[in-house]
Amino acid sequence: MDAYDVVVVGGGHNGLVAAAYLARAGRSVLVLERRGETGGAAVSFRAFEGVDVRLSRYSYLVSLLPKKIVADLGLDVRLRRRRMSSYTPAGGSGLLVDTGDDARTAASFRAITGSGGDFAAWRRFSELTGRVAERVFGTLTEPLLSEVDFCSRVGDAEAWTRLFERPIGETLEDWFGDDTVRGVLLTDALIGTFAAAGGADLRQNRCLLYHVIGNGTGDWDVPVGGMGAVTGSLAAVASAAGARLVTGAEVLSIDPDGEVRYRRDDAEHVVRGGHVLANVAPETLARLLGEEPPERPEGAQLKVNMVLSRLPRLRDPDVDPVDAFGGTFHVNETYAQLETAYREAAGKIPTLPPCEIYCHSLTDPSILGPAERAAGVQTLTLFGLHMPARLFEGRNEEAREAALRATLASLNSVLAEPIEDCLLTAPDGKPCVEAKTPLDLEAELGLPAGHIFHRDLSWPFASVPEEAGRWGVETAHARVLLCGAGAVRGGGVSGIPGHNAAMAVLRGTE
Ligand SMILES: Cc1cc2nc3c(=O)[nH]c(=O)nc-3n(C[C@H](O)[C@H](O)[C@H](O)COP(=O)(O)OP(=O)(O)OC[C@H]3O[C@@H](n4cnc5c(N)ncnc54)[C@H](O)[C@@H]3O)c2cc1C
Repeated sequence: MDAYDVVVVGGGHNGLVAAAYLARAGRSVLVLERRGETGGAAVSFRAFEGVDVRLSRYSYLVSLLPKKIVADLGLDVRLRRRRMSSYTPAGGSGLLVDTGDDARTAASFRAITGSGGDFAAWRRFSELTGRVAERVFGTLTEPLLSEVDFCSRVGDAEAWTRLFERPIGETLEDWFGDDTVRGVLLTDALIGTFAAAGGADLRQNRCLLYHVIGNGTGDWDVPVGGMGAVTGSLAAVASAAGARLVTGAEVLSIDPDGEVRYRRDDAEHVVRGGHVLANVAPETLARLLGEEPPERPEGAQLKVNMVLSRLPRLRDPDVDPVDAFGGTFHVNETYAQLETAYREAAGKIPTLPPCEIYCHSLTDPSILGPAERAAGVQTLTLFGLHMPARLFEGRNEEAREAALRATLASLNSVLAEPIEDCLLTAPDGKPCVEAKTPLDLEAELGLPAGHIFHRDLSWPFASVPEEAGRWGVETAHARVLLCGAGAVRGGGVSGIPGHNAAMAVLRGTE
Protein backbone atom coordinates (compact mmCIF):
# COMPACT_ATOMS: atom_id res chain seq x y z
CA MET A 1 0.00 0.00 0.00
CA ASP A 2 1.35 3.45 -0.91
CA ALA A 3 2.03 5.66 2.08
CA TYR A 4 2.38 9.43 2.35
CA ASP A 5 3.09 11.76 5.23
CA VAL A 6 -0.21 13.47 4.42
CA VAL A 7 -3.24 12.51 2.33
CA VAL A 8 -5.54 15.46 1.55
CA VAL A 9 -9.15 14.47 0.83
CA GLY A 10 -10.50 17.06 -1.61
CA GLY A 11 -8.61 19.40 -3.89
CA GLY A 12 -10.48 22.63 -3.16
CA HIS A 13 -8.37 25.76 -2.77
CA ASN A 14 -7.88 25.02 0.94
CA GLY A 15 -6.68 21.49 0.20
CA LEU A 16 -4.18 22.99 -2.22
CA VAL A 17 -2.97 25.56 0.31
CA ALA A 18 -2.37 22.80 2.87
CA ALA A 19 -0.64 20.65 0.23
CA ALA A 20 1.60 23.53 -0.82
CA TYR A 21 2.72 24.38 2.73
CA LEU A 22 3.34 20.74 3.61
CA ALA A 23 5.17 19.82 0.41
CA ARG A 24 7.35 22.89 0.73
CA ALA A 25 8.20 21.74 4.26
CA GLY A 26 9.43 18.46 2.81
CA ARG A 27 6.41 16.25 3.53
CA SER A 28 5.17 13.72 0.98
CA VAL A 29 1.64 14.76 0.06
CA LEU A 30 -1.15 13.16 -1.99
CA VAL A 31 -4.27 15.18 -2.85
CA LEU A 32 -7.35 13.17 -3.92
CA GLU A 33 -10.01 15.20 -5.75
CA ARG A 34 -13.31 13.72 -6.87
CA ARG A 35 -13.88 16.11 -9.77
CA GLY A 36 -11.94 16.31 -13.00
CA GLU A 37 -10.18 19.48 -11.84
CA THR A 38 -8.97 20.99 -8.59
CA GLY A 39 -10.34 24.19 -7.04
CA GLY A 40 -13.74 23.13 -5.67
CA ALA A 41 -15.92 26.25 -5.50
CA ALA A 42 -13.02 28.47 -6.64
CA VAL A 43 -12.84 27.72 -10.37
CA SER A 44 -13.36 29.36 -13.75
CA PHE A 45 -15.42 27.70 -16.43
CA ARG A 46 -16.57 28.27 -20.02
CA ALA A 47 -20.23 27.69 -19.18
CA PHE A 48 -21.69 28.23 -22.65
CA GLU A 49 -20.64 26.11 -25.63
CA GLY A 50 -18.83 28.20 -28.24
CA VAL A 51 -18.58 31.30 -26.02
CA ASP A 52 -15.02 32.04 -24.91
CA VAL A 53 -15.74 33.60 -21.52
CA ARG A 54 -14.11 32.10 -18.43
CA LEU A 55 -16.67 32.80 -15.70
CA SER A 56 -15.89 32.41 -12.01
CA ARG A 57 -18.62 29.84 -11.85
CA TYR A 58 -19.25 29.75 -8.08
CA SER A 59 -17.17 32.12 -5.89
CA TYR A 60 -16.11 35.36 -7.52
CA LEU A 61 -14.59 37.99 -5.18
CA VAL A 62 -11.61 37.75 -2.82
CA SER A 63 -11.22 39.46 0.54
CA LEU A 64 -10.16 36.87 3.08
CA LEU A 65 -7.03 35.43 1.44
CA PRO A 66 -4.26 36.74 3.74
CA LYS A 67 -1.33 38.52 2.11
CA LYS A 68 0.78 36.31 4.37
CA ILE A 69 -0.33 33.15 2.52
CA VAL A 70 0.23 34.79 -0.87
CA ALA A 71 3.75 35.81 0.21
CA ASP A 72 4.65 32.55 2.03
CA LEU A 73 3.74 30.47 -1.03
CA GLY A 74 4.89 32.98 -3.66
CA LEU A 75 1.48 32.84 -5.34
CA ASP A 76 0.89 34.60 -8.60
CA VAL A 77 -2.46 36.04 -7.52
CA ARG A 78 -3.38 39.52 -8.66
CA LEU A 79 -6.37 41.28 -7.14
CA ARG A 80 -7.90 44.45 -8.52
CA ARG A 81 -9.75 46.95 -6.33
CA ARG A 82 -13.22 47.97 -7.48
CA ARG A 83 -13.63 51.72 -7.45
CA MET A 84 -17.35 51.48 -6.74
CA SER A 85 -18.23 49.59 -3.61
CA SER A 86 -21.96 49.41 -4.30
CA TYR A 87 -24.95 50.83 -6.06
CA THR A 88 -28.51 50.32 -4.84
CA PRO A 89 -31.50 51.50 -6.87
CA ALA A 90 -34.05 53.30 -4.71
CA GLY A 91 -37.14 54.67 -6.42
CA GLY A 92 -36.06 56.45 -9.60
CA SER A 93 -32.52 57.09 -8.36
CA GLY A 94 -29.99 55.13 -6.32
CA LEU A 95 -27.44 55.01 -3.52
CA LEU A 96 -23.87 54.98 -4.83
CA VAL A 97 -20.95 54.19 -2.56
CA ASP A 98 -17.83 55.44 -4.34
CA THR A 99 -14.78 54.44 -2.30
CA GLY A 100 -12.66 56.95 -4.19
CA ASP A 101 -14.92 59.96 -3.64
CA ASP A 102 -16.36 60.60 -0.19
CA ALA A 103 -18.12 63.79 -1.26
CA ARG A 104 -19.96 61.96 -4.03
CA THR A 105 -21.00 59.19 -1.61
CA ALA A 106 -22.18 61.79 0.94
CA ALA A 107 -24.24 63.55 -1.74
CA SER A 108 -25.80 60.25 -2.78
CA PHE A 109 -26.75 59.46 0.85
CA ARG A 110 -28.28 62.91 1.25
CA ALA A 111 -30.30 62.52 -1.95
CA ILE A 112 -31.68 59.13 -0.91
CA THR A 113 -32.16 59.61 2.83
CA GLY A 114 -32.94 63.36 2.93
CA SER A 115 -30.31 64.20 5.56
CA GLY A 116 -26.69 63.71 6.56
CA GLY A 117 -27.54 61.43 9.50
CA ASP A 118 -27.24 58.05 7.82
CA PHE A 119 -23.97 58.93 6.12
CA ALA A 120 -22.48 59.93 9.47
CA ALA A 121 -23.74 56.64 10.94
CA TRP A 122 -22.33 54.75 7.92
CA ARG A 123 -18.89 56.21 8.60
CA ARG A 124 -19.18 55.41 12.29
CA PHE A 125 -20.12 51.81 11.45
CA SER A 126 -17.22 51.51 8.96
CA GLU A 127 -14.81 52.88 11.55
CA LEU A 128 -16.08 50.38 14.12
CA THR A 129 -15.72 47.38 11.80
CA GLY A 130 -12.42 48.78 10.50
CA ARG A 131 -10.95 48.87 14.03
CA VAL A 132 -12.02 45.27 14.63
CA ALA A 133 -10.67 44.16 11.25
CA GLU A 134 -7.24 45.67 11.87
CA ARG A 135 -6.96 44.07 15.27
CA VAL A 136 -8.26 40.56 14.62
CA PHE A 137 -7.48 39.55 11.05
CA GLY A 138 -3.91 38.55 11.90
CA THR A 139 -5.18 36.15 14.57
CA LEU A 140 -6.90 33.95 11.98
CA THR A 141 -3.60 32.37 10.97
CA GLU A 142 -2.43 31.91 14.57
CA PRO A 143 -3.50 29.33 17.15
CA LEU A 144 -6.99 30.02 18.51
CA LEU A 145 -7.35 32.65 21.20
CA SER A 146 -9.73 32.09 24.08
CA GLU A 147 -12.87 34.22 23.94
CA VAL A 148 -11.49 36.42 26.73
CA ASP A 149 -8.19 37.00 24.93
CA PHE A 150 -9.95 37.62 21.63
CA CYS A 151 -12.21 40.17 23.31
CA SER A 152 -9.12 41.95 24.71
CA ARG A 153 -7.61 41.90 21.21
CA VAL A 154 -10.75 43.65 19.93
CA GLY A 155 -10.22 46.11 22.77
CA ASP A 156 -13.44 48.01 22.12
CA ALA A 157 -16.42 47.42 24.38
CA GLU A 158 -18.92 48.97 21.99
CA ALA A 159 -17.70 46.89 19.03
CA TRP A 160 -17.77 43.74 21.17
CA THR A 161 -21.36 44.29 22.24
CA ARG A 162 -22.64 45.32 18.83
CA LEU A 163 -20.86 42.73 16.68
CA PHE A 164 -20.35 39.77 19.01
CA GLU A 165 -23.17 39.87 21.56
CA ARG A 166 -26.31 41.51 20.17
CA PRO A 167 -28.10 40.68 16.90
CA ILE A 168 -26.81 43.02 14.19
CA GLY A 169 -30.39 44.04 13.41
CA GLU A 170 -30.38 46.04 16.65
CA THR A 171 -27.47 48.22 15.57
CA LEU A 172 -28.87 48.67 12.09
CA GLU A 173 -32.20 49.78 13.53
CA ASP A 174 -30.62 51.96 16.27
CA TRP A 175 -28.10 53.73 14.07
CA PHE A 176 -29.74 54.04 10.67
CA GLY A 177 -33.08 55.56 9.72
CA ASP A 178 -33.23 54.56 6.07
CA ASP A 179 -34.45 51.18 4.88
CA THR A 180 -32.14 51.10 1.84
CA VAL A 181 -29.03 51.93 3.87
CA ARG A 182 -29.91 49.36 6.53
CA GLY A 183 -30.42 46.77 3.79
CA VAL A 184 -27.07 47.40 2.10
CA LEU A 185 -25.32 46.68 5.40
CA LEU A 186 -27.50 43.69 6.25
CA THR A 187 -26.63 41.86 3.02
CA ASP A 188 -23.10 41.23 4.28
CA ALA A 189 -24.66 39.28 7.13
CA LEU A 190 -26.75 37.09 4.84
CA ILE A 191 -24.40 35.83 2.13
CA GLY A 192 -24.85 32.06 2.16
CA THR A 193 -26.53 32.40 5.56
CA PHE A 194 -30.25 31.87 6.04
CA ALA A 195 -31.07 34.20 8.92
CA ALA A 196 -33.13 37.15 10.07
CA ALA A 197 -31.45 40.41 11.12
CA GLY A 198 -32.53 39.80 14.70
CA GLY A 199 -31.83 36.04 14.84
CA ALA A 200 -30.91 34.99 18.38
CA ASP A 201 -28.18 32.50 17.40
CA LEU A 202 -26.17 35.35 15.82
CA ARG A 203 -25.20 33.37 12.73
CA GLN A 204 -25.87 36.58 10.78
CA ASN A 205 -23.36 38.44 12.97
CA ARG A 206 -20.72 35.80 12.30
CA CYS A 207 -21.35 36.08 8.57
CA LEU A 208 -21.09 39.87 8.78
CA LEU A 209 -17.83 39.61 10.68
CA TYR A 210 -16.16 37.51 7.97
CA HIS A 211 -17.40 40.00 5.40
CA VAL A 212 -15.80 43.04 7.04
CA ILE A 213 -12.41 41.85 8.35
CA GLY A 214 -10.61 40.55 5.24
CA ASN A 215 -6.94 41.58 5.27
CA GLY A 216 -7.73 44.15 7.93
CA THR A 217 -9.89 46.27 5.60
CA GLY A 218 -12.86 44.14 4.48
CA ASP A 219 -12.31 45.13 0.83
CA TRP A 220 -13.67 42.64 -1.72
CA ASP A 221 -11.43 42.53 -4.76
CA VAL A 222 -11.63 41.06 -8.23
CA PRO A 223 -9.21 38.19 -8.94
CA VAL A 224 -7.55 38.99 -12.26
CA GLY A 225 -8.20 36.05 -14.59
CA GLY A 226 -11.10 34.88 -12.41
CA MET A 227 -11.12 32.37 -9.56
CA GLY A 228 -9.50 29.78 -11.80
CA ALA A 229 -6.35 31.91 -11.77
CA VAL A 230 -6.22 31.75 -7.96
CA THR A 231 -6.63 27.98 -7.91
CA GLY A 232 -4.28 27.55 -10.88
CA SER A 233 -1.52 29.34 -9.02
CA LEU A 234 -2.10 27.25 -5.88
CA ALA A 235 -2.07 23.99 -7.83
CA ALA A 236 1.12 25.01 -9.64
CA VAL A 237 2.90 25.87 -6.38
CA ALA A 238 1.76 22.66 -4.67
CA SER A 239 2.84 20.51 -7.63
CA ALA A 240 6.16 22.30 -8.01
CA ALA A 241 6.86 21.59 -4.34
CA GLY A 242 6.29 17.87 -4.98
CA ALA A 243 2.66 17.32 -3.92
CA ARG A 244 0.89 14.73 -6.08
CA LEU A 245 -2.52 16.01 -7.23
CA VAL A 246 -4.85 13.27 -8.45
CA THR A 247 -8.20 14.23 -9.96
CA GLY A 248 -11.14 11.92 -10.72
CA ALA A 249 -10.43 10.24 -7.36
CA GLU A 250 -13.46 9.94 -5.09
CA VAL A 251 -12.66 9.08 -1.51
CA LEU A 252 -15.00 6.36 -0.21
CA SER A 253 -13.87 5.96 3.38
CA ILE A 254 -11.33 7.18 5.90
CA ASP A 255 -10.03 5.10 8.76
CA PRO A 256 -8.97 7.05 11.87
CA ASP A 257 -5.63 5.22 11.65
CA GLY A 258 -4.90 6.96 8.37
CA GLU A 259 -6.09 4.47 5.76
CA VAL A 260 -7.95 6.14 2.88
CA ARG A 261 -9.94 4.17 0.32
CA TYR A 262 -10.79 5.82 -2.99
CA ARG A 263 -12.17 5.03 -6.43
CA ARG A 264 -10.51 6.11 -9.65
CA ASP A 265 -11.11 4.80 -13.19
CA ASP A 266 -13.58 2.22 -11.86
CA ALA A 267 -10.95 0.69 -9.59
CA GLU A 268 -10.62 0.93 -5.83
CA HIS A 269 -7.33 1.94 -4.25
CA VAL A 270 -6.07 2.23 -0.69
CA VAL A 271 -3.38 4.61 0.58
CA ARG A 272 -2.14 5.46 4.03
CA GLY A 273 -1.46 8.91 5.40
CA GLY A 274 0.45 9.80 8.55
CA HIS A 275 -2.20 12.51 8.65
CA VAL A 276 -5.43 12.75 6.70
CA LEU A 277 -6.57 16.30 6.01
CA ALA A 278 -10.27 16.57 5.17
CA ASN A 279 -10.97 19.42 2.75
CA VAL A 280 -14.55 18.11 2.60
CA ALA A 281 -17.43 19.38 4.76
CA PRO A 282 -17.63 18.07 8.35
CA GLU A 283 -20.83 16.24 7.41
CA THR A 284 -19.02 14.46 4.57
CA LEU A 285 -16.08 13.66 6.82
CA ALA A 286 -18.41 12.04 9.36
CA ARG A 287 -19.90 9.90 6.59
CA LEU A 288 -16.44 8.87 5.33
CA LEU A 289 -15.42 7.93 8.89
CA GLY A 290 -18.64 5.94 9.27
CA GLU A 291 -19.77 8.19 12.11
CA GLU A 292 -23.02 9.93 12.99
CA PRO A 293 -23.07 13.19 10.96
CA PRO A 294 -23.48 16.53 12.76
CA GLU A 295 -26.69 18.53 12.30
CA ARG A 296 -27.25 19.04 8.56
CA PRO A 297 -26.47 22.58 7.40
CA GLU A 298 -28.65 24.29 4.80
CA GLY A 299 -27.45 26.44 1.91
CA ALA A 300 -29.79 29.26 0.92
CA GLN A 301 -28.69 30.92 -2.32
CA LEU A 302 -29.25 30.90 -6.06
CA LYS A 303 -26.17 31.59 -8.17
CA VAL A 304 -26.83 32.83 -11.70
CA ASN A 305 -24.13 33.31 -14.33
CA MET A 306 -24.83 35.39 -17.42
CA VAL A 307 -22.98 36.63 -20.47
CA LEU A 308 -24.41 39.82 -21.95
CA SER A 309 -24.07 41.32 -25.40
CA ARG A 310 -24.22 44.71 -23.62
CA LEU A 311 -25.01 46.12 -20.19
CA PRO A 312 -28.70 46.89 -19.65
CA ARG A 313 -30.01 50.45 -19.36
CA LEU A 314 -30.90 51.64 -15.87
CA ARG A 315 -33.99 53.46 -14.64
CA ASP A 316 -31.75 55.91 -12.81
CA PRO A 317 -30.63 58.51 -15.40
CA ASP A 318 -27.97 59.94 -13.08
CA VAL A 319 -25.68 56.94 -12.80
CA ASP A 320 -23.37 55.57 -15.46
CA PRO A 321 -24.04 51.81 -15.86
CA VAL A 322 -20.27 51.30 -15.71
CA ASP A 323 -20.30 52.69 -12.15
CA ALA A 324 -23.48 50.86 -11.16
CA PHE A 325 -22.39 47.43 -12.46
CA GLY A 326 -18.71 47.78 -11.53
CA GLY A 327 -19.42 47.42 -7.80
CA THR A 328 -21.98 45.30 -5.97
CA PHE A 329 -25.38 46.20 -7.40
CA HIS A 330 -28.08 45.47 -4.81
CA VAL A 331 -31.50 44.45 -6.14
CA ASN A 332 -34.53 44.58 -3.85
CA GLU A 333 -32.30 44.29 -0.80
CA THR A 334 -33.76 46.92 1.50
CA TYR A 335 -33.95 45.89 5.15
CA ALA A 336 -37.72 45.37 4.96
CA GLN A 337 -37.45 43.44 1.69
CA LEU A 338 -34.78 41.16 3.15
CA GLU A 339 -36.83 40.43 6.23
CA THR A 340 -39.95 39.74 4.15
CA ALA A 341 -38.04 37.43 1.81
CA TYR A 342 -36.60 35.55 4.81
CA ARG A 343 -40.07 34.94 6.24
CA GLU A 344 -41.52 33.90 2.87
CA ALA A 345 -38.60 31.62 2.06
CA ALA A 346 -39.44 29.35 4.97
CA GLY A 347 -42.14 27.91 2.69
CA LYS A 348 -41.87 29.30 -0.85
CA ILE A 349 -39.70 31.13 -3.32
CA PRO A 350 -39.76 34.78 -2.22
CA THR A 351 -42.13 36.99 -4.21
CA LEU A 352 -39.37 39.52 -4.92
CA PRO A 353 -36.11 37.61 -4.50
CA PRO A 354 -33.36 39.83 -3.08
CA CYS A 355 -30.12 39.47 -5.01
CA GLU A 356 -26.88 41.24 -5.86
CA ILE A 357 -25.03 41.39 -9.10
CA TYR A 358 -21.65 42.51 -10.32
CA CYS A 359 -19.86 42.65 -13.64
CA HIS A 360 -16.40 41.04 -13.53
CA SER A 361 -15.44 41.97 -17.07
CA LEU A 362 -15.67 45.72 -16.38
CA THR A 363 -12.83 45.47 -13.85
CA ASP A 364 -10.98 42.58 -15.51
CA PRO A 365 -11.69 41.93 -19.21
CA SER A 366 -8.93 39.30 -19.35
CA ILE A 367 -11.56 36.57 -18.84
CA LEU A 368 -13.03 37.37 -22.29
CA GLY A 369 -11.73 35.78 -25.48
CA PRO A 370 -10.52 38.18 -28.21
CA ALA A 371 -13.74 38.03 -30.27
CA GLU A 372 -15.95 38.51 -27.21
CA ARG A 373 -13.81 41.41 -26.04
CA ALA A 374 -13.94 43.08 -29.44
CA ALA A 375 -17.73 42.64 -29.51
CA GLY A 376 -18.14 44.43 -26.16
CA VAL A 377 -19.46 41.35 -24.34
CA GLN A 378 -19.83 41.65 -20.54
CA THR A 379 -20.35 39.12 -17.75
CA LEU A 380 -22.90 39.31 -14.97
CA THR A 381 -22.70 37.32 -11.74
CA LEU A 382 -25.85 37.18 -9.63
CA PHE A 383 -25.98 35.92 -6.04
CA GLY A 384 -29.55 35.47 -4.82
CA LEU A 385 -30.28 35.44 -1.08
CA HIS A 386 -32.91 33.50 0.85
CA MET A 387 -33.29 30.52 -1.48
CA PRO A 388 -32.97 27.66 1.03
CA ALA A 389 -32.35 24.10 -0.12
CA ARG A 390 -35.71 22.98 1.28
CA LEU A 391 -37.48 24.84 -1.55
CA PHE A 392 -35.75 22.61 -4.10
CA GLU A 393 -35.91 19.20 -2.39
CA GLY A 394 -37.69 16.67 -4.61
CA ARG A 395 -38.39 19.26 -7.35
CA ASN A 396 -35.04 20.73 -8.26
CA GLU A 397 -35.59 21.20 -12.03
CA GLU A 398 -38.97 22.83 -11.72
CA ALA A 399 -38.03 24.95 -8.69
CA ARG A 400 -34.79 26.07 -10.39
CA GLU A 401 -36.85 27.38 -13.32
CA ALA A 402 -39.28 29.13 -10.97
CA ALA A 403 -36.48 30.62 -8.85
CA LEU A 404 -34.66 31.89 -11.95
CA ARG A 405 -37.85 33.39 -13.37
CA ALA A 406 -38.66 35.18 -10.11
CA THR A 407 -35.05 36.37 -9.73
CA LEU A 408 -34.82 37.80 -13.25
CA ALA A 409 -38.18 39.52 -12.71
CA SER A 410 -36.77 41.01 -9.50
CA LEU A 411 -33.73 42.25 -11.42
CA ASN A 412 -35.90 43.64 -14.21
CA SER A 413 -37.86 45.68 -11.67
CA VAL A 414 -34.83 47.98 -11.34
CA LEU A 415 -33.78 48.05 -15.01
CA ALA A 416 -35.10 50.18 -17.88
CA GLU A 417 -35.18 47.13 -20.17
CA PRO A 418 -35.50 43.39 -19.56
CA ILE A 419 -32.21 41.62 -18.87
CA GLU A 420 -33.36 38.90 -21.28
CA ASP A 421 -32.90 41.39 -24.15
CA CYS A 422 -29.25 41.83 -23.22
CA LEU A 423 -28.26 38.15 -22.89
CA LEU A 424 -25.77 36.97 -25.48
CA THR A 425 -27.05 34.13 -27.67
CA ALA A 426 -24.65 31.18 -27.86
CA PRO A 427 -23.96 29.46 -31.21
CA ASP A 428 -26.52 26.77 -30.26
CA GLY A 429 -29.21 29.48 -30.20
CA LYS A 430 -29.62 29.42 -26.41
CA PRO A 431 -29.31 32.52 -24.20
CA CYS A 432 -26.19 32.59 -22.02
CA VAL A 433 -27.71 32.16 -18.57
CA GLU A 434 -27.27 29.33 -16.06
CA ALA A 435 -28.63 28.98 -12.53
CA LYS A 436 -27.27 26.88 -9.68
CA THR A 437 -29.53 25.92 -6.79
CA PRO A 438 -28.23 24.63 -3.44
CA LEU A 439 -28.97 21.09 -4.64
CA ASP A 440 -26.97 21.68 -7.82
CA LEU A 441 -24.04 22.74 -5.65
CA GLU A 442 -24.42 19.61 -3.55
CA ALA A 443 -24.35 17.43 -6.68
CA GLU A 444 -21.46 19.28 -8.35
CA LEU A 445 -19.22 20.21 -5.43
CA GLY A 446 -20.37 17.99 -2.57
CA LEU A 447 -21.50 20.99 -0.46
CA PRO A 448 -24.04 19.61 2.06
CA ALA A 449 -27.46 21.00 1.03
CA GLY A 450 -25.47 23.54 -1.00
CA HIS A 451 -24.02 25.34 2.04
CA ILE A 452 -21.32 27.56 0.55
CA PHE A 453 -19.28 27.55 3.78
CA HIS A 454 -19.70 23.76 4.42
CA ARG A 455 -21.61 24.70 7.60
CA ASP A 456 -22.64 27.91 9.36
CA LEU A 457 -19.64 30.06 10.16
CA SER A 458 -18.17 29.90 13.65
CA TRP A 459 -16.72 32.70 15.77
CA PRO A 460 -13.00 33.05 15.13
CA PHE A 461 -11.99 32.11 18.68
CA ALA A 462 -12.09 29.03 20.92
CA SER A 463 -15.68 28.03 21.65
CA VAL A 464 -14.55 26.31 24.87
CA PRO A 465 -11.43 27.17 26.90
CA GLU A 466 -9.71 23.82 26.07
CA GLU A 467 -9.68 24.75 22.38
CA ALA A 468 -7.47 27.79 22.97
CA GLY A 469 -4.00 27.23 21.53
CA ARG A 470 -5.25 24.70 18.97
CA TRP A 471 -5.72 25.46 15.28
CA GLY A 472 -9.49 25.00 14.95
CA VAL A 473 -8.98 22.03 12.61
CA GLU A 474 -8.78 19.18 15.12
CA THR A 475 -11.25 16.26 15.16
CA ALA A 476 -11.83 13.44 17.63
CA HIS A 477 -9.02 11.54 15.83
CA ALA A 478 -5.40 12.64 16.21
CA ARG A 479 -4.44 11.79 12.62
CA VAL A 480 -7.51 13.34 11.00
CA LEU A 481 -7.81 17.12 10.66
CA LEU A 482 -10.24 19.39 8.87
CA CYS A 483 -8.68 21.59 6.22
CA GLY A 484 -11.69 23.20 4.61
CA ALA A 485 -14.35 25.83 5.03
CA GLY A 486 -16.03 23.86 7.86
CA ALA A 487 -13.07 24.38 10.23
CA VAL A 488 -13.12 27.16 12.82
CA ARG A 489 -12.15 30.28 10.82
CA GLY A 490 -13.09 28.55 7.57
CA GLY A 491 -15.47 29.85 4.94
CA GLY A 492 -14.76 31.94 1.87
CA VAL A 493 -11.82 31.89 -0.47
CA SER A 494 -9.23 32.41 2.25
CA GLY A 495 -6.83 29.49 2.35
CA ILE A 496 -6.90 30.01 6.13
CA PRO A 497 -8.10 26.54 7.20
CA GLY A 498 -5.64 25.02 4.70
CA HIS A 499 -2.83 27.03 6.26
CA ASN A 500 -3.96 26.18 9.78
CA ALA A 501 -4.24 22.44 9.08
CA ALA A 502 -0.72 22.49 7.65
CA MET A 503 0.53 24.32 10.76
CA ALA A 504 -1.20 21.80 13.01
CA VAL A 505 0.66 18.98 11.22
CA LEU A 506 4.03 20.75 11.12
CA ARG A 507 4.01 22.09 14.65
CA GLY A 508 2.82 18.71 15.94
CA THR A 509 5.64 16.77 14.26
CA GLU A 510 8.61 19.17 14.46
C1 LIG B 1 -21.99 30.00 -5.41
C2 LIG B 1 -20.89 30.35 -4.46
C3 LIG B 1 -20.43 31.66 -4.40
C4 LIG B 1 -19.43 32.00 -3.49
N1 LIG B 1 -18.91 33.27 -3.53
C5 LIG B 1 -17.81 33.55 -2.80
C6 LIG B 1 -17.06 34.74 -3.02
O1 LIG B 1 -17.35 35.52 -3.92
N2 LIG B 1 -15.98 34.96 -2.23
C7 LIG B 1 -15.59 34.09 -1.25
O2 LIG B 1 -14.61 34.36 -0.54
N3 LIG B 1 -16.25 32.93 -1.05
C8 LIG B 1 -17.32 32.62 -1.82
N4 LIG B 1 -17.94 31.41 -1.69
C9 LIG B 1 -17.47 30.47 -0.65
C10 LIG B 1 -16.17 29.79 -1.03
O3 LIG B 1 -16.15 29.50 -2.38
C11 LIG B 1 -15.97 28.51 -0.23
O4 LIG B 1 -16.15 28.75 1.14
C12 LIG B 1 -14.58 27.95 -0.48
O5 LIG B 1 -14.36 27.75 -1.86
C13 LIG B 1 -14.38 26.66 0.26
O6 LIG B 1 -13.14 26.14 -0.15
P1 LIG B 1 -12.66 24.72 0.36
O7 LIG B 1 -11.36 24.44 -0.31
O8 LIG B 1 -12.66 24.69 1.84
O9 LIG B 1 -13.77 23.70 -0.10
P2 LIG B 1 -14.46 23.39 -1.55
O10 LIG B 1 -14.23 24.50 -2.48
O11 LIG B 1 -15.84 23.01 -1.21
O12 LIG B 1 -13.63 22.14 -2.03
C14 LIG B 1 -13.83 20.85 -1.49
C15 LIG B 1 -13.37 19.84 -2.51
O13 LIG B 1 -13.57 18.52 -2.02
C16 LIG B 1 -13.97 17.70 -3.10
N5 LIG B 1 -14.64 16.51 -2.57
C17 LIG B 1 -15.86 16.42 -1.97
N6 LIG B 1 -16.11 15.13 -1.62
C18 LIG B 1 -15.03 14.41 -2.00
C19 LIG B 1 -14.68 13.03 -1.93
N7 LIG B 1 -15.50 12.13 -1.35
N8 LIG B 1 -13.49 12.62 -2.44
C20 LIG B 1 -12.64 13.51 -3.01
N9 LIG B 1 -12.91 14.82 -3.13
C21 LIG B 1 -14.10 15.27 -2.61
C22 LIG B 1 -14.91 18.61 -3.88
O14 LIG B 1 -15.10 18.15 -5.21
C23 LIG B 1 -14.16 19.93 -3.81
O15 LIG B 1 -13.27 20.10 -4.89
C24 LIG B 1 -18.91 31.02 -2.62
C25 LIG B 1 -19.33 29.70 -2.70
C26 LIG B 1 -20.31 29.36 -3.63
C27 LIG B 1 -20.73 27.92 -3.72
